[in-house]
Amino acid sequence: MEELEMLYQEMGISPAVYARGEKVLDALQTRFAAIDKVAEYNQAKVINAMQKNRVSAACFAATTGYGYDDLGRDNLERVYADVFHTEAALVRPQITCGTHALTVALSANLLPGDELLSPVGMPYDTLQEVIGIRESPCSLAEYGVTYRQVDLLPDGSFDYPAIREAINEKTKLITIQRSKGYATRPTFSVKQIGELIAFCKGVKPDVLVMVDNCYGEFVETIEPSDVGADMTVGSLIKNPGGGLAPIGGYICGTAQCISRCAYRLSAPGLGQEVGANLGLMPALYQGFFMAPTVVAGAEKGAIFAANLYEPLGFRCVPNATESRHDIIQAVELGSEAGMIAFCKGIQAAAPVDAHATPMPWDMPGYNDKVIMAAGAFVQGSSIELSADGPIRPPYAVYFQGGLTWFHAKLGILMSLQKMVEAGLAVLGE
Ligand SMILES: *Cc1c(COP(=O)(O)O)cnc(C)c1O
Repeated sequence: MEELEMLYQEMGISPAVYARGEKVLDALQTRFAAIDKVAEYNQAKVINAMQKNRVSAACFAATTGYGYDDLGRDNLERVYADVFHTEAALVRPQITCGTHALTVALSANLLPGDELLSPVGMPYDTLQEVIGIRESPCSLAEYGVTYRQVDLLPDGSFDYPAIREAINEKTKLITIQRSKGYATRPTFSVKQIGELIAFCKGVKPDVLVMVDNCYGEFVETIEPSDVGADMTVGSLIKNPGGGLAPIGGYICGTAQCISRCAYRLSAPGLGQEVGANLGLMPALYQGFFMAPTVVAGAEKGAIFAANLYEPLGFRCVPNATESRHDIIQAVELGSEAGMIAFCKGIQAAAPVDAHATPMPWDMPGYNDKVIMAAGAFVQGSSIELSADGPIRPPYAVYFQGGLTWFHAKLGILMSLQKMVEAGLAVLGE
């Protein structure tokens, strides 16, 4: 379409970059159709849960103060529990982010003397201070919770003998991170997570399993809670908020785990009974409703990026053809300059703050300098089109999101444009 090509050119995308993008897209139609099938299933799953719980206008009313008898809040939690097939759920704007949700889940269910095990290697950067792997005030380590870790095998698979060895009488909770985070290991499928959970529970039947589900929601038709996780945890400014939730986190799981989480989040004795919704219910319900399609668009963007960048000589994780279990795409750009150029492109394609220039900076909770590109309606929202990564080899940018597929496409084309302009990528033929 000439009209579109002209508009893109006006926005800074050269005809050569546009043409490359179209060629790549031609080959992706079957994969995109498969993603739409998953989205259709998940859309029906969410609507079914909303209908079953008789969601109505009354659920959207704002509450303040203690928030006793908050109909909308309590019903939203039932909707989440139904979608995740769990006994209970804690879905709150008082949970400030994913790290907070994970912290609540861990600290509510680990007591002094207990041990936490990660059988999948080093957890996400911010969790390292929560656990106390990096010393931090109020870490689990400070409260007498020990930590053990089993690294993945070189091929990215689980080291079952070492995991069996690591589980001991103190092991109370096992944490499994679904998404790769800022690592270059593969993301696990829900099926793989299920196998790992079954193995761990085979070794110690009463051990609790928490899955960090950040970025994984709605990418598949099942969730970790469908394969034995006691707690499935994530952020509402990622997938399940659908881009509309302005804050929040969720924990879905067994009634026993969730009630402890609620006591930890508010106070012993108060639990789930308090926590006003502050008028956020319309956004949380509607965002959850939108989430399956938003996630599908983001996943298409990730696949497009891999198929655009890999042939240009940049290693992509996941690679151009492998199956997807989260919405993250890592592109190894090989240099700080490459990371900056890529992020400049993502920023320049944003609906908000497109005029800003992303630069590396020291960010709380992270060990290395981090660069972040985001022109988001919600600050830091990474279901919106965003790219970030720690400035360390292999200089990988972790790219994710896009509330619409077309925005994701534009952002990726713009990133390539900036790479080409900086002389860091050569289109060839
Ligand atoms: C984003 C993320 C977190 C932390 O979430 P925040 O909302 O940034 O605190 C934890 N684990 C993984 C795998 C993540 O991707």
